[in-house]
Amino acid sequence: MRLFECHACSHWLSFEEMQCAGCQRELGYVTDEAHLRSLDAVGQDVDGRPLYAAHPGSEPAFRFCANRAYNACNWLVPSESAEELCLSCRTNLTIPDLSSQLFAERWQHIEIAKHRLMYSLLRLGLAIPNKADDSIGGLSFQFLADMNDMRVMTGHEDGIITINIAEADSVERERARSSMHEPYRTLLGHFRHEIGHYYWDRLVRDGGHLDEFRSLFGDESFDYQAALQQYYAGNYPQDWRERFVSQYASAHPWEDFAETFAHFLHIVDTLETAYAFGLRIRPKRAAQQELAATIDFNPYGDVPIESILEAWKPLTVAVNSLNRSMGQPDLYPFEPGPGVLEKLAFIDRIVRGRDVQLQAA
Ligand SMILES: [Zn+2]
Ligand SMILES: [Zn+2]
Ligand SMILES: [Zn+2]
Repeated sequence: MRLFECHACSHWLSFEEMQCAGCQRELGYVTDEAHLRSLDAVGQDVDGRPLYAAHPGSEPAFRFCANRAYNACNWLVPSESAEELCLSCRTNLTIPDLSSQLFAERWQHIEIAKHRLMYSLLRLGLAIPNKADDSIGGLSFQFLADMNDMRVMTGHEDGIITINIAEADSVERERARSSMHEPYRTLLGHFRHEIGHYYWDRLVRDGGHLDEFRSLFGDESFDYQAALQQYYAGNYPQDWRERFVSQYASAHPWEDFAETFAHFLHIVDTLETAYAFGLRIRPKRAAQQELAATIDFNPYGDVPIESILEAWKPLTVAVNSLNRSMGQPDLYPFEPGPGVLEKLAFIDRIVRGRDVQLQAA
């Protein structure tokens, strides 16, 4: 994630903020620029809706996304657009019942994670067609609550990503994490995993990469439900650490792809944050020089995956050590083995459309 600053008063800004703490200007995210901008009010449109301009300047004008009224979004809509909702919020098929204060709060947490996901997809230049415009290839989200004994399963099917809003409750989520023996469970992690399933359909199945996928991840035609049953019965490879980024990734090639895709997004976005802060890791121990790294590149840019992975290891060792100093769990409780690095390189290639150059080389 980029580091943003107010163009009016130079205060530093975080992606989710609605108002600058320095000058109290309203803030809005401009998707085309991938920047959070401080805003000046510039009147109203013909329907009486307030218009804003990014400071300094008076053009172009924007409106707030309609979900700002619920503290669920700080993205902007161009004033000439007919849409009430921003690009990210337009993908919502179903949101929770907002007459419930609890559900409204959970939805706000969900949107914070979803907007971070959307940021990454836009920065990577991935197509995000909306299911409202493209019923076959499009994407949409539904955020649902358990009803009586009807349990909502978080998952992806045919471009619809479903999130059980209980995942936005930290106690519920921690209970699930602990009972399923997972080292890491977050809302953002759910989004990054489920979007991996969506892009498997788009980039692997429809993108002509099935053979290469199967050579790295295995044959996905193996019965999915049977594979998950086997996994939950405790039948998974004991040496999963050598080939899979997580134990769950060993359940089925689709889950392996989604888990590895999530890690690709974890790595690229966290490295961008490190880059934005100019992080440099220089261990004081002479023998630990393999843990040295200077993160002087933007990982969303045209950077070889080797450079990204070389910087990632030292960064995670350093930040995990910082977390342990605070008595916190590791920031990145994973150790991807060589088999995983190969899969990450495949995902990097298909996400960035690098396969064409590779074939030509
Ligand atoms: Zn300011
Ligand atoms: Zn919005
Ligand atoms: Zn999955």
